[in-house]
Amino acid sequence: MPAATRAELAAWQANASPLEPGADERARLAALVFDHAQAFLANLEKGPANRPRADAVSRRLDPEFTEGGRDPSDVLSYIAQCVDRPGITTASPRFMGYIPGGGLFHSALGDFLAAASNKYAGFASAGPGAVRMENATTDWLARVVGLPESAAGALTSGGSMANLSAIVAAREARDCDGGGAVYMTPLAHHCIDKALLIAGRAKAPRRTIAIDGRYRMSVEALEAAIESDIAAGVRPWLVVASAGTVDTGSVDPLADIAALCEKHGVWFHVDGAYGGLFMLCEEGKAVLGGIERADTLALDPHKTLFLPYGTGAVLARDGRHLLDTYSSSADYIRPLGETEVGPSPADLSPELTRHFRAMRLWLPLQIAGVAAFRAAQSEKIGLARYFHARMRAAAGFEVGPPPDLSVVAFRYLPEKGDVDEFNERLIARVQAEGRIFLSGTRLAGRAFLRCAILSFRTHLDHIDETIEVLLRTAKEVEAE
Ligand SMILES: *Cc1c(COP(=O)(O)O)cnc(C)c1O
Repeated sequence: MPAATRAELAAWQANASPLEPGADERARLAALVFDHAQAFLANLEKGPANRPRADAVSRRLDPEFTEGGRDPSDVLSYIAQCVDRPGITTASPRFMGYIPGGGLFHSALGDFLAAASNKYAGFASAGPGAVRMENATTDWLARVVGLPESAAGALTSGGSMANLSAIVAAREARDCDGGGAVYMTPLAHHCIDKALLIAGRAKAPRRTIAIDGRYRMSVEALEAAIESDIAAGVRPWLVVASAGTVDTGSVDPLADIAALCEKHGVWFHVDGAYGGLFMLCEEGKAVLGGIERADTLALDPHKTLFLPYGTGAVLARDGRHLLDTYSSSADYIRPLGETEVGPSPADLSPELTRHFRAMRLWLPLQIAGVAAFRAAQSEKIGLARYFHARMRAAAGFEVGPPPDLSVVAFRYLPEKGDVDEFNERLIARVQAEGRIFLSGTRLAGRAFLRCAILSFRTHLDHIDETIEVLLRTAKEVEAE
């Protein structure tokens, strides 16, 4: 191959110049994008929480990707019509399906800064300030849930990756050769099954532990299962407890489970993706006691700290378990290990190069302050209790036990006809109308609606409106 000529190099450089906008062009692009985001956010209060029938969904740009690029305004208007509009508006204050979060604006700015500098947050030697920020953030999370100084952790893409990272560490610590038994309730999140599968433990002896009348793990049933395994020569390996189930928000009796695990040498993993970080507020602390005794913990700041999607956290009470599992030793990234800014994220989790995630959590904590997060969480728990009390008093509705956290399961009992079928129709109607968005679930085979209150934007007015919509829609469905 002949060497490239100076003329060829100059031509490529000129043709690649759209990748390097100058300061004025950057300002113009940023203003367009910023205005777009402002318009989206301004519409949240009055716009619907769901747009199920959007024709725009199937529209395509033609051709999808051009050689010469397009006018940025045209690109943004495509996004507004065909991406922002259709489907569920998870940023809406009236979005209360699944587990909400909302998407803090400060985090969007944090992502912008992280992406603009592209600091490397995988290794301390490469980006000491960035890694210090990652560790300051995970240390703060560990303190919030009450883990000791020995704890360490890493920010992951979400709760599924956090649970997987923890379960692989639990396998390396206690089940290298396999055969150990796993204990969890029917309300454990399905990502635990995925994690066991990926960890090569899909066939581990599995004990489904009964729940009590408040949808919490029965400690008596757990104890009986562990003791019968020991008597039969099966080694108890892993208990997966829920600090907030998605179905009902129920919190397993963590302190009692911790005591059993300590007694029998069983690994105590807590899936706190939905509820663990409610430890920040007093109302949460009152139900989450014992979480601080977990060997490993999965959390989701993109739920309980209101971040945009893409932020989970895995924590281990003894950080060495993560280092033992994940620290790598490729020659080209030596030296590793402890530094003055702490361990490197790449040594604590499966990923190497990754998004500089800490910035999107660190920045809002710095600017808004911790008290704002704490108050927002207390407000969500308070709103759930308010919703529960009002629905309990509403004619025709049946509610479950008072919520441990911020999810309320409820259903309508029609005068005649099939109850499950009625509630399926009720939820479908509410979703199709789109003003509010709730999702459903099945509890012991019976259809329920859920109201999951966890967006920082959701306040009393929105809950009052939700109740109005439910009362009205139930009447309409009943009249059909
Ligand atoms: C959301 C959730 C998960 C899964 O987390 P992702 O962030 O969606 O991957 C796991 N467990 C519980 C209890 C959850 O609420």
